[in-house]
Amino acid sequence: MSLTHDAASAPSTPPSAGRRFRAYTSKHLDELTARAGLGTDERLAVRAVATVLPFRVNSYVIDELIDWDSAPDDPMYRLVFPQPDMLPEADVSRIADLLRQDAPRQELNRVANEIRAKLNPHPAGQMDLNVPKIGGQDPLEGMQHKYDETVLFFPKQGQTCHAYCTYCFRWAQFVGEPDLKFASGEVDHLVRYLKDNPQVTSVLFTGGDPMIMGEGVISRYVEPLLEVETLESIRIGTKALGYWPQRFVTDPDADDTLRLFERVVESGKNLAFMAHFSHPAELESDLVAEAVRRIRGTGAVIRTQAPLIRTINDESAVWERMWRTQVRMGMVPYYMFVERDTGPQDYFAVPLARAYEIFQGAYKNVSGLARTVRGPSMSATPGKVCVDGITEIAGEKVFMLHLVQARDADLVGKPFFAKYDEKAAWLFDLEPALGATHFPYESAPPADVSSLVDPARA
Ligand SMILES: *Cc1c(COP(=O)(O)O)cnc(C)c1O
Repeated sequence: MSLTHDAASAPSTPPSAGRRFRAYTSKHLDELTARAGLGTDERLAVRAVATVLPFRVNSYVIDELIDWDSAPDDPMYRLVFPQPDMLPEADVSRIADLLRQDAPRQELNRVANEIRAKLNPHPAGQMDLNVPKIGGQDPLEGMQHKYDETVLFFPKQGQTCHAYCTYCFRWAQFVGEPDLKFASGEVDHLVRYLKDNPQVTSVLFTGGDPMIMGEGVISRYVEPLLEVETLESIRIGTKALGYWPQRFVTDPDADDTLRLFERVVESGKNLAFMAHFSHPAELESDLVAEAVRRIRGTGAVIRTQAPLIRTINDESAVWERMWRTQVRMGMVPYYMFVERDTGPQDYFAVPLARAYEIFQGAYKNVSGLARTVRGPSMSATPGKVCVDGITEIAGEKVFMLHLVQARDADLVGKPFFAKYDEKAAWLFDLEPALGATHFPYESAPPADVSSLVDPARA
């Protein structure tokens, strides 16, 4: 197909569509929270939170996605704007005091870093557990190889997003702390690694958001992979369809980007576009519809995923609407995630029992075409753990679980059980059920040796 012709005949794109990207940062926060109707103290508390956690939004999100009449309760507003009570009150008032006194930048940073360090900035051992080595050489920066068949790659230029989600589990890399970052500029190493490891069939570009990179940069990462015969799919994990669909319609490099997707497909690989959509409101604009149509026109497959977040999308009806709309638009629902154990997790977490109810309440109403979705799923250190149900076995109320992904591939798909706990919100809150001493991904606890000790010699 001719993309240039396609762009010319694009239906009714809104007048703001062609405008260049404009970012809003913490400098604009006071003005924007005033627009949401917050009072002086609340606005200061929001600024305090944004001193610790990253804030960034753009003109499309501000003008087209947020319903300002409903702010600050609007889910799109809550998706991108820090909440005054997202962090422990003592931390917020400590920073608010410093802001009130116009404390020097250095002092603010020092206190902000102390608070960040308490927020588990690198869940699932992100910095140290997953980095592969090539023939005993230095570990590869910005690469994770946790599951046999898939490698994650974090391009150096992809370490930001078109806007930041308040709940982002990668928040630490956006706060200007060099040693909390995790990125790679080395595609040659990746290609060599893939050739040495033919069991890897899928490379997942992630970040940040790889689609923040211009076509000229991203193609330098993607093109060399087309030569790797054993590679079956190239995935791009991105929120750009939700936060800046212009990237695929009216941006200067939109057409070139689509041509790059076409080249991937022509090379005989699947270009899997992993779109992060948190709420059905993100699917409503004409611009998104046009972006989806154009991406699908390249032969790429769009799959969708998002975490379940308290106060943003914690209702079955929201997920049902999202999955139905996605199927209509030709996208494939993929994962519903559980909010990870990092950052303001206490604020956003939905307990596993409730998460399961929300998932099931939506899943039961959609057609089989939307039941490609898996969840609620926890991306934890041993792998991705899915909550399959809540039931009673031999008089004991239990969670039924299985690993969708596992470091130890033999465990994938095997069911296991945990004691039911209404409050449990993460894997480490769970205990083995039905007399088991440990979960399948844990090693057996040491046998109790006390009974073997000879009492005469003790
Ligand atoms: C989710 C994830 C993947 C991909 O898993 P799929 O189930 O194939 O989507 C790969 N690596 C890591 C570290 C992940 O968290």
